[in-house]
Amino acid sequence: MSDVHVDVLIIGAGPSGCVAASYLHNKNLKIKVVEKNRFPRFVIGESLLPRSMHHFEEVGLIDCLKEYGFERKSGARFIKGEDKCDFDFSNKHTDGWDWTWQVPRADFDNVLANELIKRNVDILFEHTVIDIIFSPDGTSETIIENTNKETSSIKAKYIIDSSGFGRVIPRLLDLEKPSEAPNHSSIFTHVKDIKRPPGREGTIITFDVIDTQTWLWVIPFSNGVTSIGYVGPTEYLDSFKGDKTEKLTQLLKLSDHYYERFRDLDFSFEPIHIKNYSKSVKQLYGKGYVLTGNSAEFLDPVFSSGVAFATESALLAAKLIHRELNNSPVDWEDEYSNHIKKGVNVFSTYVKEWYTGNLQDLFFHQPENKEIKKQICSVLAGYVWDETNPFVKKHDKIIKNLAHLIRLEKA
Ligand code: FAD
Repeated sequence: MSDVHVDVLIIGAGPSGCVAASYLHNKNLKIKVVEKNRFPRFVIGESLLPRSMHHFEEVGLIDCLKEYGFERKSGARFIKGEDKCDFDFSNKHTDGWDWTWQVPRADFDNVLANELIKRNVDILFEHTVIDIIFSPDGTSETIIENTNKETSSIKAKYIIDSSGFGRVIPRLLDLEKPSEAPNHSSIFTHVKDIKRPPGREGTIITFDVIDTQTWLWVIPFSNGVTSIGYVGPTEYLDSFKGDKTEKLTQLLKLSDHYYERFRDLDFSFEPIHIKNYSKSVKQLYGKGYVLTGNSAEFLDPVFSSGVAFATESALLAAKLIHRELNNSPVDWEDEYSNHIKKGVNVFSTYVKEWYTGNLQDLFFHQPENKEIKKQICSVLAGYVWDETNPFVKKHDKIIKNLAHLIRLEKA
């Protein structure tokens, strides 16, 4: 029997878990965060979106992040051969934060967790959730294991599963379902960017499009290190011979723009190869639990939406749990699931239309239409719930239709 009782147990201390924990702690709920790793720990997801700044700000986590000195991200650049499309977040349709950061996540997540510890949030590191027993009323007993394989348990009224790719509750309750996104994979590492050019060219986040299906990310950090990673169809990345270092070395040769900058640089760690990264679930909540962040859904890295969804879902879930524990009814389907799915659907369309090539045609079309660019820029900044933006409201038709017009114009 457990003698540890909390209102809310949060699984995982990534951005999703930290935002939820900060909100609930500020509301004086008794919470506990259980985190499998010791921090700092590596995780991918280094290009953030301005939308998530609202979440960090609302829960009181923005000042500690500002103090650290991460590289400021004011937009993003897409290039394809000689073609370029530069998005500047200060020139977007929707009001709101117009900058964010590009970050080594080990440091970023560590700043968040340390700030919570400073405020006496109870985070238990190096403990893994291995099982959860739910009672019919939704309360639960969670079994955790330390690094010596000793187990203990925690009783909670509610669980927020922010376990990222750990996907604890989806696995335990058989909630996983195949994603509709294409089978794509990624291979990435960090390099000490000693040939980094001065000025903006050296620091801008870039998506270098090799072909319609394959692209390279370049994410420079303020500490002189740069993240480089290829994304492409699983079979295509598998077709490169050799180990992960050899594969990434061969892939880098495909980039006319970046090959000289990164050739012959030592990789900071053996490249990581994640295959078929897209994930989905049958439901986002149930009695006594809610799934947030990557634990719920992951589409594709192409528009850097992962952390923004992680913090959006965490903040909303925390607010709704707080309300429910104060005896106000919550319509989880409408207030949580539908809201998150609305945003996910917009990004799903953008991901799909990126890989059909339609969105790439739109990005690289000249001359640029300034109004269209502002509207797309809002989506790329994460403002995917603003229905005054036609690129949100009519996302399922507008890209396809405009790409069709571009093709007619070219014919
Ligand atoms: P995480 O940050 O993964 O945190 C989950 C935490 O839960 C971890 O610390 C883990 O140790 C812990 N945990 C797991 N299992 C257990 C357990 N059983 N018990 C206790 N603790 C547990 N997103 C972006 O926003 N920008 C990008 O540029 C970007 N690039 C990406 C590139 C690739 C190739 C991939 C695959 C993803 C990318 N993402 C990106 C997505 C990003 O990685 C995630 O969306 C983001 O990290 C989600 O945050 P989170 O808090 O949900 O999970």
